Amino acid sequence: MSRDPRYDILFEPMDIGPVTAKNRFFQVPHCNGGGYRDPSAAAQMRNSKAEGGWGVIFTEQVEMHHTSEITPFIELRLWDDKDIPMLAKMADQIHEYDALAGLELTYSGINGPNLYTKEVPRGPSAGPILTFTSDPVSARAMDKQDIKDLRRWYRNAFIRSKEAGYDLVCLYGAHGFGIIQHFLSRATNHRTDEYGGSLENRSRLMRELIEEGKDAVGDTVGISVRLSLNEILGEHGFSNAELRDCIEMNAEVPDLWDLAHGSWEDCSETSRFGEEGAQQPLVQGIKALTPKPVVGVGRFTSPDLMVKQVKSGVLDFIGAARPSIADPFIPRKIDEGRIEDIRECIGCNICVTGDTTMSISRCTQNPTFMEEWRKGWHPERMNEKGESDSVLVIGAGPAGLEATRALGERGYQVALAEGSTELGGRLVKERLLPNLSAWGRVVDYRVGQIQKMPNVEVYLDSKLSADEVLEFGFENVAIATGSSWRRDGVARYHLHPIAIDTKMPAYTPDDIMDGKIPSGRIVIYDDDHYYMGGIMAELLTEKGCDVVLVTPAVKVSEWTDFTLEQHRIQKKLMDLGVEIHLNKAVKEVTAEGVSLECTYTGALSDLNVDAVVLVTARDGNDDLWQELKARESEWEAAGIKSIKCFGDAESPAPIAWATYAGHRYARELDGEEIGDDLPFRREITELAPD
Ligand code: ADP
Ligand code: SF4
Repeated sequence: MSRDPRYDILFEPMDIGPVTAKNRFFQVPHCNGGGYRDPSAAAQMRNSKAEGGWGVIFTEQVEMHHTSEITPFIELRLWDDKDIPMLAKMADQIHEYDALAGLELTYSGINGPNLYTKEVPRGPSAGPILTFTSDPVSARAMDKQDIKDLRRWYRNAFIRSKEAGYDLVCLYGAHGFGIIQHFLSRATNHRTDEYGGSLENRSRLMRELIEEGKDAVGDTVGISVRLSLNEILGEHGFSNAELRDCIEMNAEVPDLWDLAHGSWEDCSETSRFGEEGAQQPLVQGIKALTPKPVVGVGRFTSPDLMVKQVKSGVLDFIGAARPSIADPFIPRKIDEGRIEDIRECIGCNICVTGDTTMSISRCTQNPTFMEEWRKGWHPERMNEKGESDSVLVIGAGPAGLEATRALGERGYQVALAEGSTELGGRLVKERLLPNLSAWGRVVDYRVGQIQKMPNVEVYLDSKLSADEVLEFGFENVAIATGSSWRRDGVARYHLHPIAIDTKMPAYTPDDIMDGKIPSGRIVIYDDDHYYMGGIMAELLTEKGCDVVLVTPAVKVSEWTDFTLEQHRIQKKLMDLGVEIHLNKAVKEVTAEGVSLECTYTGALSDLNVDAVVLVTARDGNDDLWQELKARESEWEAAGIKSIKCFGDAESPAPIAWATYAGHRYARELDGEEIGDDLPFRREITELAPD
């Protein structure tokens, strides 16, 4: 198949200063949780994007000097020449497929607590460091010498970036993370010298750094700046109007304007709170202010919307972080006329949690993300089929569907048996919850792929028993039978069942999703802490219930801090009028209501309600697995070589864990036994001589 001519415009080459991008697909900087700890994993991940056809590929943020670093978060570093090989490896990987390699230089200013280097942080003005964790540290105001030093450090960093092979260098001044923004914004710049006050003064540092960068490396390296469309910091914040003035005033200074939005929470909005292309009203019209190209983001996965952005003069480049994670091959798929093969980002921000939990990123849609080097998993190609031929996959949730798709691609004869009448497992119902419809893409992509495979048969309404599995005699059996919400109050606070009076109607999220809706005053007890408690509160309010949410945590949906949604969820529930009780656990469910226990003092209080919804732990549905395991002696006679249980049935977790587990099962089937060896590659710190 070949490209639909209506997408030709996306493949036009575009100049950025002295360099030319082969097309308009621009992977903006994004973290991955690996950074300097896992440099080869991060480099290989970028290589996949290059292979997938992106014209421009950026690094994550690169700390450009040791006086400003953001430990504990793991990004890249360019503190001295020793960091050059690590960065050069990434540039080389990007160049393998003719993409431009971009490096995002960051001096974190008031966002860098320097917990590792123990240096005193510096900012345009003195004040507490602004981080996620409210570190009790302050920045001192930079004097003239500090500014001179900073300019020299930037110059050094530009030269090192060029030496590492980069074609583009971006000055980070968005999301509250870069010093350029701290100087631009009246919220953080209170200076009275030529670097403070008027917009001309506040943009002086940005201008100087870009001009000096051009002087140092501008003959071969394009220089861009990344700014927030609107800082959203109240009356003193750098507003969209001021950004426009700044761009007009400095129209020709950078080689490209890279437009991000607000804080990271604003920019990487989840699909629960924002649509694809949500930033358009803030970007519209900016291109007319500058002759230089403009890139913007908006979780773009639809080629038609991308074309519209370009044709209507909103953007020159289609910027993408998450869409390029979920599918590094978007440009190639558009180019090859394979639009239906695009694996669309669902906007869940699980990828972000790799960074915010300082672990390593995973992606709900793309289980190979950050495993390209560690495990040798290619995002578009499976390993060859092994020695056996047939697999029975039981359960068509995210784990079973991904296993089926990936096994089908390897060439196995796959039978997928699903007990219900629909494919999708937990997502059949969860995609119908308020604002979670985009999550259905996890199912739609996989079902679309499976339907094209002649070697995959799907059986609905086929709830299998152990006898049937043994009778069918498939060589391999994959059990992905999911999980169910517990009814007994067990989760994190209570490790044993709590007393529940049977006179009180008690529900689980499964009941609610099955359409059993209580009425009157309802208490939702959330000891799960991810999205389900908050979503239940939203849904039941919509259904007319008077909702009280109780949680032992200090905030609603606490874990969603890591997906950058917590603030929005709590605000939404407050706006909906949900009565919120924090730091309280349900100690007992009585005939009249619930008895609550304060998590600090143990003080008890009562709430009278008409029904209780327990959003606590989930239990794996592993009865089938346990029975088959107990009958292992019968496997061989039945012709069965292996039976494995994975996904929520093995251990309940977010959907990304299930797609990963399904993918891993498919990759490893018929694989070599590795014994006690590590199942992935890693890099360890090289010891210096004493
Ligand atoms: P995961 O997230 O691990 O994929 P889900 O709960 O989303 O788990 O999906 C599990 C699926 O397995 C559900 O669609 C469920 O109907 C199906 N299932 C459970 N038990 C059986 C069984 N014995 N035979 C066939 N399908 C089953
Ligand atoms: Fe998109 Fe979720 Fe994957 Fe992140 S983890 S790229 S938000 S699908």
